[in-house]
Amino acid sequence: MNQDLNKIKLTDRSQVVSNKKMTLLEKFYLPAIFKGLYVTFTHLFRKKTTIQFPEVKRPVSSIYRGMHVLKRDEEGRERCTACGLCALSCPAEAITMVAKERLESEKHLYREEKYAAVYEINMLRCIYCGDCETACPKEAIFLTDRFVPSEEARDNFIYGKDKLLEPIDARIDVSKRQTPEVLAFKKDKTQLHNK
Ligand code: SF4
Ligand code: SF4
Repeated sequence: MNQDLNKIKLTDRSQVVSNKKMTLLEKFYLPAIFKGLYVTFTHLFRKKTTIQFPEVKRPVSSIYRGMHVLKRDEEGRERCTACGLCALSCPAEAITMVAKERLESEKHLYREEKYAAVYEINMLRCIYCGDCETACPKEAIFLTDRFVPSEEARDNFIYGKDKLLEPIDARIDVSKRQTPEVLAFKKDKTQLHNK
């Protein structure tokens, strides 16, 4: 039984360890050093696998899920009504918000009677699953193809409305994330989700 077990190999690359004494040449390490330098030298003429990020960016899929955007409507008003569905559906509990009632004088700022006075996403907790986007009945939050920039302090990864809200003069195209199927579902008022 033990003999059979000894014959079992996990890979074909396993080698029998030997206590062979090093030759004089091996003791100088020079052959090994030259061999290593040769390998390094041959890499100089190969196609580079690195890119000059951030000047150069790798192409991403059209459905890449990157940094979120809080959308405005056609008139520039914030679409989010602070219903909290995105936060409820977030498996990472990355979203927090504070809801406020809209004042009469704020109708040009917020589309609904209620809006998110504070809306924050912890980008270090987020797993970019897109559930917040799917849950939102107001077409207010979308993931985009933008990267979250690197930071040194953890606090800087708490993104508030200053970073998430779409600028009025630089609207962010999310049409790739609004497939006909998604749009049809969100217009279907028989779905409780869309009421
Ligand atoms: S993408 Fe997923 S994990 Fe990130 S905030 Fe949205 S629901 Fe949460
Ligand atoms: S689900 Fe949409 S409308 Fe509701 S709080 Fe989230 S982003 Fe705002």
